[in-house]
Parts: sequence; C-alpha cells; structure tokens
Amino acid sequence: MSKEMIKITLPDGTVLDKPSGITGMEIAAGISSGLAKQSIVIELNGELRDLSFPIHEDSDLKILKKDADVALEIIRHDCAHVMAEAVQELFPGTQVTIGPAIDDGFYYDFSFKESFVSEDLEKIENKMIEIVDKGLPFVREVWDRKDAISHFDKIGEKYKTEIINDLPEDEELTIYKQGEWLDLCRGPHMPTTGHIGKAFKLMKIAGAYWRGDEKNEMLTRIYGTAWRTEKELKTYLNMLKEAEKRDHRKIGKQMKIYTFDEEVGPGLPLWLPNGTVIIDELEKLAKETEEKAGYDRVKTPHITKGSLYEKSGHLSHYEDSMFPAMDIDGNHYYLKPMNCPHHHKIYASSPRTYKELPVRLAEYGTCYRYEKSGQLFGLMRVRSMQMNDAHIYCSEEQFKEEFLAVCKMYLKYFEIFGIEKYEMRLSLHDPDKLGEKYVDEPELWIKTENLVRESLQDGKLNFIEIPGEAAFYGPKIDVQVWSAIGREFTLATNQVDFAVPSKFNLTYIDNKNNEKTPLCIHRAPLGTHERFIGFLIEHYAGNFPLWLTPVQMMIIPISDKFNDYADSVFNQLKEQNIRVKIDTRNEKMGAKIRTAELNKIPIMIIIGEQEVKDKAISVRRKFSGNQGSFSVDEFINAINTEIKTRSN
Ligand SMILES: [Zn+2]
Ligand SMILES: [Zn+2]
Repeated sequence: MSKEMIKITLPDGTVLDKPSGITGMEIAAGISSGLAKQSIVIELNGELRDLSFPIHEDSDLKILKKDADVALEIIRHDCAHVMAEAVQELFPGTQVTIGPAIDDGFYYDFSFKESFVSEDLEKIENKMIEIVDKGLPFVREVWDRKDAISHFDKIGEKYKTEIINDLPEDEELTIYKQGEWLDLCRGPHMPTTGHIGKAFKLMKIAGAYWRGDEKNEMLTRIYGTAWRTEKELKTYLNMLKEAEKRDHRKIGKQMKIYTFDEEVGPGLPLWLPNGTVIIDELEKLAKETEEKAGYDRVKTPHITKGSLYEKSGHLSHYEDSMFPAMDIDGNHYYLKPMNCPHHHKIYASSPRTYKELPVRLAEYGTCYRYEKSGQLFGLMRVRSMQMNDAHIYCSEEQFKEEFLAVCKMYLKYFEIFGIEKYEMRLSLHDPDKLGEKYVDEPELWIKTENLVRESLQDGKLNFIEIPGEAAFYGPKIDVQVWSAIGREFTLATNQVDFAVPSKFNLTYIDNKNNEKTPLCIHRAPLGTHERFIGFLIEHYAGNFPLWLTPVQMMIIPISDKFNDYADSVFNQLKEQNIRVKIDTRNEKMGAKIRTAELNKIPIMIIIGEQEVKDKAISVRRKFSGNQGSFSVDEFINAINTEIKTRSN
C-alpha cells in the first residue's frame, strides 16, 4: 500500500508533495546535498525540531543552517551535552543536573564526587574535541516516565529523577543520546556532535546551589562559550580581553573617579573630584539639551511618606527593592526608589489647561534601591543612583511628536558619545496576560502601542518589536547600546504610562472645557550617572574626550627656571575655565609626560627656554604626539571650540 501524502510548504511558497513520515533531512537532501550538509535543525509550523523528526501532516517547513538566529543557542546546547559526557567519562560518579545555553555560551551544573579545580577544564575540553570528532548522531527517544525514573535511579542520578518527578504528568518525556551517553532533554539538537565544530572553549568554574536555593547542595558550574566559527570565537575572546583591560572598576580606581568605603556602606559610591567633574559635565549637557527641548527643571526630596508609594503602587509591587521604612512622628518614610510620584505631585500642584501642555519636568534625581550585597557590582549595580529623569505630560494629540522628540534626543546623545551601534526595542503587551502582568485596558494598550509605533515610523527610526516585554502600565522602548569594543549594555528605557496619571488624579482642561487625563512619558536617556559613567569608562577605555575628561591638560615646565612663565600660562588657562594642572616636580620631562599619559590626561603643554623666549607654548597630545608651537591665545581659541562642540 502506498504511503499517505502530505504537503510541505517552504518559506518561498513552494509546495512539495511528500510521503508522510518524511524528515527535514530527507527534504533538505532532495533540494541539494549542500543544503543537507549545512542544515542543523528545522522550524516546523513555527516550532524547532530535529532534522530527523518525522513529519506526518501538512506543514510549513523552514530548514535552518548555522547562519540562523537560533543557531547559536542550539550549538551551545549541543556543547553542554558534549561537555556533560566528557565530564562523566573523566570523573566517574559525577552527577549531572541541568545545562542550558546562555547569552554568551552555556553552562552545566555538576555534583562532583571528588574535588574539581579549574586546571581540569583543559582535560575536559580535549575530551570534548574527541567526542565532536567522532561525529556521533544525536538521537531522540520518547521514554516512559517510570522507565526513565528507574533508569536514572539505577545509575545514581538523583537530580534527574527529581527533575522528572517535577515534570507535568502529561508532558512527553524525551531523551537525547549521543553514542552511549544520554540526557533528559526537550531538544532540539543538530544531527551529530560533529556539527558543533571546534569554536568552543571552557571558560571558568563557579559554585551554584541546586535550583538556585541556598538551602540546597552546592554544585559546580562549568561555563563555556561556543560560536559558529573559530573566527567568531576569536573575536569574542579578544573582546573579553579588551573588556578586562577597560574594566570600569580598574580604570575608575586608577583615574580616581570613585571609591567605596566600608564605613559608608556597600553599593554607595563616593564620587571623587575627578568623577564629579564627569558628573557635572554630563549634567551640563543634559541641562542644555533639555532646556532647548522645552523642559522645566525641578528638585524633589530624598525621603517621602509611605502613603505616596502606596498610591503609586511601588509599595505593593516594588517593596523588596526599597530600603525599609523610617518611623518619623508616627509616619512611615521611605528613601525614594523612583522620582515619578514626586513629579506627578508637581504636575498636580496647580490646575492645568491644554495651553500649558506638554508639561516636561526634568530632574537629575537621586534614588535608592536595595540590591542584595551579592548582586552589587562596581558602578553597574549600586544602591544609590542619580538618574537623568524626566516626565512629560501631554495630550493624546501631542503624544506622537513628544515621543519622537524623546527618541531623537537619545540619538543626539549617541552621536555626542560616539555610540555607533544601538538598538531600539519596542516592548509590547501580551493580550493573554491582561489583568495579571499588564493593566487590564485592552483598548488603551492597542491605542498607545499604535501611537508609539507610528511615532517611530514617522521619524524613520529603526526598531524591532518584542511582544510580552512591556511594563505593567504601558509600552516602552528599551535602548541597548554597544561600547566601542562591542559589549552590549542596557542603557535606558523610554516608557509610556497610561495608568498612573489617573491614579494620581492628574488632569487638564481641554479646549472644549472638558476635564481630561494626560498621558505620561517616563524617560532617562543618559540612564543613571553610575551606569552611564561605568559604560563610558569601558567605551573610551578611560580616554574621555576633552570636554568630559577630568584633567584636560598638564603644564610641564622643563626646569624650575621656567616656573614663573608656566604659572602665567596656567593662570590664563584657568581664567578660561580650562581644567589644567601644573607639574613642578623635580623630574625629567620624559617622566612628567609619562605620568600625564598614565593618568590619561589628553594634552601636555611643554614649556622650555624657546617657549619663554617666543611667549609661546609647545603642545603635545596623548595619541598624536607633538602638535607644534602656539601662542597662548591661539591655543585657547582652538581648545575652547573643541570643548564647546563636545567633539569626540
Ligand atoms: Zn539538552
Ligand atoms: Zn518615571
């Protein structure tokens, strides 16, 4: 009897008639042997499957190769299986737990019988290469739950038994085998271990509690990274090396930008004079930009009565991230975790008409958030932070223009800081989660999401849409930026809020004398000083552009004979508000230049006999060496232009 036929629709619309039970691999081979060789998994009606998965119904089929977006995740997952086999072969008696793919690679958590040190990673890596070289097929099998439990019980894999017992009763239980080794797994995997290639490396070990719970046993986590090609792997490893050199904690210390003090408390940075210069310059930039864009500046206190945070919902949704209450005169006061409620109160402090809208309130506000001490990380995760905050209250008609103006402000900042790679992600709500994860206002969601989308399209801005990532009260744009060495940072979000204004009874009188609720845009393009300066240190490797750098120039007199003239030059530069220092140490010129360069001071002014005679200065720049001789006035003119235009 001939087999039943099914219709397979390819992405280009081609429909193939194939016998039921055919696999993606067979279809790929029918198209070309090259495709069969390169394909790694299939997407069958939107779901990822193995190439060997038999297809029994009419389906949409995409055959994926290593260039697909999901390929990295699959390569890394395959790698985790191969690593687990290698570990169990080399260290018999080791139990496996879980091993997912992560952002830059993969990990697997093991329960080792004997002690394990990072020197053992190389052994495991070599064993992995052996397993890859064997090109073992990944084979999927569906197992009976009881059989699976008894199998893992018998070989002493108690974690696997626990995982199986926790799986929903109706879930099909699948096992993936490579050669003799097997793991409980949902898949999919590439056809063979050989498909992984050699672009992987084991990176480090760490402790991790079983299921992340500190009451459970401590396991050993092995981290690895894996890429499509050896070139990609090399690029990644170089980026890590460069990131280590540019570590904001190292450079922050070396350049005396900030410090922490145990007696002040963890996560509470003390900004040193050099860091404060950077902060002041950033605030000056924000002030100028916001003033031109029609913002008004406001100031709000650091502590606030709990009732305000009950109203805003912070206490019910966010209390874990707030510092505990202080009891003052029978009232609970909290350190401010966000500036929004205060700005809402300022909006509400006087009656508003449509003529005043939009109201744009800006503040570099300090907020306090409780982060667990284990989560604190240099300037990137702190407990006190100063935020480039503002709230824009506008009518629906004004919304698109306002929102676009905010997005364009982001772009302007990117240009100033030489941020070439960035991505705007429009995060949307999930209609299935209205009422739990999202305010239950289905029409308002659709309306505001459309407004945001249209405003981005009107401005011809590139963005991608991500469903299910919106904030509780409205859609948002998440902005990711990449530093000069290609490391990704979450910079800031730009959010629409259609729920809170009514909670705070924010209103305005429209032109027909009706009371209306404004929309609110929360925005913070420069994020917090802490995160942004942390980012900038890496981005510039500490070599800040002239306008932003703490010490802009160092005057270096060749001997004390020239100190008087050096002083007069110093005074002229100071008069222009240029951040200049003078090095009168009894050292050779070369040593003074080296010190200035080590401290990442961009300009050195050398003063010797010739300069005194010519009433001039010799200028040297850190990366381009000698610039020649200038009169002080000439020099000041050029420098002032460079600083004023904030050139990079
Ligand atoms: Zn797996
Ligand atoms: Zn806000």
